[in-house]
Amino acid sequence: MLIDSHCHLDFADFTPDREAVIARAEQEDVSAFVVPATTVASFPAVLALVDSPARIFGALGLHPYFLSEHGDDALAALHQALDQHAGQVVALGECGFDARLADHDAQWQLFEVQLSMAREFSLPVIVHCVRANDEVAKRIKQARLTRGGIIHAFAGSQVQAERFLELGFVLGLGGSVTYPRANKLRGVVASLPDDGFVLETDSPDMPLCGFQGQRNEPSRVAKVADVVAELRASSRHDIALSTTTNVQRILQLNV
Ligand SMILES: [Zn+2]
Repeated sequence: MLIDSHCHLDFADFTPDREAVIARAEQEDVSAFVVPATTVASFPAVLALVDSPARIFGALGLHPYFLSEHGDDALAALHQALDQHAGQVVALGECGFDARLADHDAQWQLFEVQLSMAREFSLPVIVHCVRANDEVAKRIKQARLTRGGIIHAFAGSQVQAERFLELGFVLGLGGSVTYPRANKLRGVVASLPDDGFVLETDSPDMPLCGFQGQRNEPSRVAKVADVVAELRASSRHDIALSTTTNVQRILQLNV
């Protein structure tokens, strides 16, 4: 069994055929899904998916990409939602920092408050981190989290990978590792410990090599597993076993 540890099944991209997308994933043995929220407005849709018959686990958080949509009361609304839906939510996320985007000060502030909430609610964190691995690791360390989390779509060096692992995090591997030109990342993937990574798609974004320009979907976790297996001279079966165990451990899932 495979788990897509990061997919945005709540996005409108999936409104026309969400059930078919989930069925296609299940045919590929991708039978559990973690859906992180992005804005306060997305919370109801994420929570509705958690209540659906599929094995979907939800996280609530405020994504830096949508900074302009987070009103003054967004953090208060997140706090209230975490309080109210404590039993339904497996992590705080998606939150983090993206150096490509503007308003760095506001992004850091939003991230730091969410890290303190993760500590308060004793939740793991799903982190979006682009070109800021060292700074994000520093903030995570300062936050003294109780549960660790996932560095989604990890892209960084061996040293940065080890630093996140030491902080109790695992690395999310997705479409990026399927591109042969991603030499450095593929080298890191080959040398990670078995308990240091999970698989994801970030659907509908981050298409795999060979699927550029298409909507990404969770069934393709199977292809990510094949590439990771090849890089590690392992098998899809063994990668499925270890990554499923890793998601279960980090997010305390019962699947
Ligand atoms: Zn995402």
